[in-house]
Amino acid sequence: MSCEIIKNDILSLLAGELTGDEHSRMLRHLEACSLCRTEMSELEKTWMNMDRWEIEKPSSAIKANVMAAAKDELAGAHVPWWSTFPRSVIFQTVLGALGFSMIIYLIFPYDKIINLCETLILKSAFFAYFPKGLIYFLLGLLYGMVPISISGICFSGRIEDNPLFKGLGIGAIFAAFLIPFFIVQCPQFEAGLIFIMALGIITGALSGGTGTLYLLSKMRTEAS
Ligand SMILES: [Zn+2]
Repeated sequence: MSCEIIKNDILSLLAGELTGDEHSRMLRHLEACSLCRTEMSELEKTWMNMDRWEIEKPSSAIKANVMAAAKDELAGAHVPWWSTFPRSVIFQTVLGALGFSMIIYLIFPYDKIINLCETLILKSAFFAYFPKGLIYFLLGLLYGMVPISISGICFSGRIEDNPLFKGLGIGAIFAAFLIPFFIVQCPQFEAGLIFIMALGIITGALSGGTGTLYLLSKMRTEAS
């Protein structure tokens, strides 16, 4: 649960308006997050003051003003992006994609597969009809697209807004980590081949990230 959502719900928590489920989720987050705890105690003070006024039967206008001011304050509160980033969905999805791509690499090492491709292309009359570059581009596409799609399905379930933009970002960060690893693993091949395959990996990572997040968000809107 993000701090943004928590901050909006703190007032509801103080008012006792949360359901049992929401309530326990909230408490779990507050336990882990000192930023939200600080917000909470600030608001609690305001809330206590309001209770004191309650005895003197304050007008509902005063209460509304306090609530509005508190909400404004919360909306303007600055949470530095790096403090929430390690727990963010984007971070988890990129990490998952890197993990899956390492598993795929262990099962299908780049150099072994390229060597296999070389012998296939050289020996098979069928593959000889395809341009060699296209085959390596498609191979790279798979290395980029498969892990990020699996990770997207596993970890990005909570992304609700801007699925295309966030998918593109996740794909770009993933590719930025994977490409250097790929290049280091394949020093023995010609530069053109590595370049085409890297291009395939980048294309696969970007399209896999945006595609998966877009489809997930589409399925969620249709389901609800
Ligand atoms: Zn928080």
